[in-house]
Amino acid sequence: MRRHIASLLLFVSLLSSVSLTTPQIASNHAAIPAPEEVLGFVPGDDRKLASWSQIIEYFERLDQSSDRVKFETLGRTSMNKPFVMATISSPANLEKLDEYKQIQAQLADPRKLGAPAARDRKAAELIARGKSIVLITCGIHSTEVGSYLSSTLIAHRLASSNEPAIQKILDNTIVLLVPSLNPDGVDIVKDWYEKTLGTPYEGTDPPELYHKYTGHDNNRDWYAFTQVETQLTVDKIHNVWRPQIVHDIHQQGAFGSRLFLPPYMAPVEPNVPRQIVEGYTQLGDWMAGELRAKGFEGITTNSTYDAWTPARAYSHYHAGVRVLSETASARIASPMTLKFEELRSREGYDPQKEGPNFGPVWRGGEWHLRDITKYMTNVAFLLLDHAAEYRVQWLRRFYAIGRDAVRPRRNGELYGFVIESSNNCNEMLWSILQRGGVEITDQRDGTKLIRMDQPYGAFAKALLEVQKYPNLRDAEGHPIPPYDVTAHTLPLLMNTAVRPVKAPFRQTKPKPGIAKPGVAVAAKPAEAKTPDCKPASRADFPALYRAAMPTYDEGWTRWIFDNLSFRHGVLSERELRAGITTFRQGPGVTGKYYTIIFPDQPARNIFEGYRAGSMPPELSGGLGEEGVKQLRAFIVQGGTVVFLNRASEFAIEQLKLPLRNVVAGLPRTDFYVPGSILRIELDTTHPIAANMPKDTIAWAENSPVFEVVENASGDVPAANVRIVGRYPADKDPLLSGWLLGGEKIKGKAALVEVMMGKGRVVLFGFRPQYRAQSVATYPLLFNSLGTNP
Ligand SMILES: [Zn+2]
Repeated sequence: MRRHIASLLLFVSLLSSVSLTTPQIASNHAAIPAPEEVLGFVPGDDRKLASWSQIIEYFERLDQSSDRVKFETLGRTSMNKPFVMATISSPANLEKLDEYKQIQAQLADPRKLGAPAARDRKAAELIARGKSIVLITCGIHSTEVGSYLSSTLIAHRLASSNEPAIQKILDNTIVLLVPSLNPDGVDIVKDWYEKTLGTPYEGTDPPELYHKYTGHDNNRDWYAFTQVETQLTVDKIHNVWRPQIVHDIHQQGAFGSRLFLPPYMAPVEPNVPRQIVEGYTQLGDWMAGELRAKGFEGITTNSTYDAWTPARAYSHYHAGVRVLSETASARIASPMTLKFEELRSREGYDPQKEGPNFGPVWRGGEWHLRDITKYMTNVAFLLLDHAAEYRVQWLRRFYAIGRDAVRPRRNGELYGFVIESSNNCNEMLWSILQRGGVEITDQRDGTKLIRMDQPYGAFAKALLEVQKYPNLRDAEGHPIPPYDVTAHTLPLLMNTAVRPVKAPFRQTKPKPGIAKPGVAVAAKPAEAKTPDCKPASRADFPALYRAAMPTYDEGWTRWIFDNLSFRHGVLSERELRAGITTFRQGPGVTGKYYTIIFPDQPARNIFEGYRAGSMPPELSGGLGEEGVKQLRAFIVQGGTVVFLNRASEFAIEQLKLPLRNVVAGLPRTDFYVPGSILRIELDTTHPIAANMPKDTIAWAENSPVFEVVENASGDVPAANVRIVGRYPADKDPLLSGWLLGGEKIKGKAALVEVMMGKGRVVLFGFRPQYRAQSVATYPLLFNSLGTNP
């Protein structure tokens, strides 16, 4: 933003507010560049992608030429690129951003408005002066290229147009526009796309994670806050501005509806305030109606996407609605032609049939990147129209959520949670809650108290309590799968004792000197460095296996190792297939890995990899027979191989282990565990379970469950199997989330070690390091990495 123009415009806008007949003089059109002037193409053109530096250059040019745009770098990404945001509003509003932040802070926490009796009156004054704060986030999923390109179109129109509708948006809202939540991925996808352009592989997804560590799972980090991009967004945008509306622009698969908008389908996580549900329902339904009136086709609401996990919806627990939009994809930036018959049903609608939550039908045909940007920009401007038109209602709703949150709890209601100081892993829990704005009170007896009567008490409650996922069935009685997972109980994941307490509750007085309520840690990153959770360092170190077909679990495991400064190597599919299990330590110095870790990945993806012809030959074929032979040789010569979750099925099949997955092939009606926390019992005399409590958890997600087979066809006898962990024979295995058919796994094995030759394999029937959250079971993973005990 150029300051002298801003002051001039402030002057002009003051003049215009005096005389209604004075025409609005806005920014100087000619000076404001259109995206094509910087990018060299119109965003939405077929087969054209912009680099991250081009996007930055465009926003810098807007900032220089427009007094409606303030562009800033908020920090650096995982791969050290600038993480940026544009603030867009009227020049007059941009002059007073601190004042609007103050209004937001007071409405969000009505305790700041003084005595309860005076709060509503003071709030009404603030609402009259405040603006709707709208955060628009693009590009968290980097293959969904339409949104970061659309960000330039949205910004350009806001910066340059003098239409009354745009002026109304600028006057009534403050738009926070993040062109990409994952800048690193912009270039990863662009590089791959351009490398394969004109080849048979044009339009394929890159054969690597598009975020350094998490890939697509970067949008599952909105309560664990492990990644720097999540931390920057929460610390420097959400917690600073507390937006009423967060518009998160995504793309879905190519073959369903052309567009999804809220409301979300069931279930809604019970701690999401009713006003949030009302807000996204009202806004989503209104936008869908307006789009239909404009002739847009193939729109669905109330389908496919639920509102269960806080991992995708920080704002739902911070008084802001999340408006997810999902536009149908093309092949990255390449067009595709779809036949009507190819359109496929998804949860809650059939794209070939008009229904109460779908329509009008799109008849198929060509689908270009331009169609995607057209849907996206139209949705964005409708959303902004609504935020501007109903500014007062949005601010009232925002205040009402805060008022409900801080009200005193009546006798018999949940007062809060008392957390015992059990181990150092608690530090992770504290940093998560504090980053989420939760106040934590130290008590005299060493426990900590988290009260519900605070603005973000519901965020704490969602993360501290046990989830009871509803047993949802379709018309045929089949379980309706959750969009993501079903549990997020941090005390279970982090082995912390928590007890809910009811009102009235007498606090133990805090010890003098150490007592202070928790404060939001804006600048300090929530590092997961917790001495008791950290493995002992060893002279030798393990290799993390990396298949050509990327898997998020590989990235999460690598993040955990990097974060704990745990020395490790990475072994590629091609290396292992060629029998290479060594690493270079420096010029002329090599070493041999003692342990290889196979992250969670379907057995078939490990063995077969990419289908022949679907990717370049050097990436296709998987580990294959040759790789299995090399792996077997590595083990019998004394190596350890650790298989996580579904990779264990690969081990059972290919190494012909005397084990059986007892839930393999069962229909979901008989057995189903789509991401839940189960209980297991450990044999603590085994080195893998050393220093662990006898009872612990298992993050089960499409997980195998083991049974020893006495007369197996392979050359490993059943006597070589040692069961380290099993589901209890006499208790319900479910601790949090959803489990169908729990009876089938009672007494069965969840963690086994199998001796083979001079080496051994360890099979986890769960994810011991699930998304860097299941800290309780990290020791099992680290203990299993040693050499032959
Ligand atoms: Zn997405």
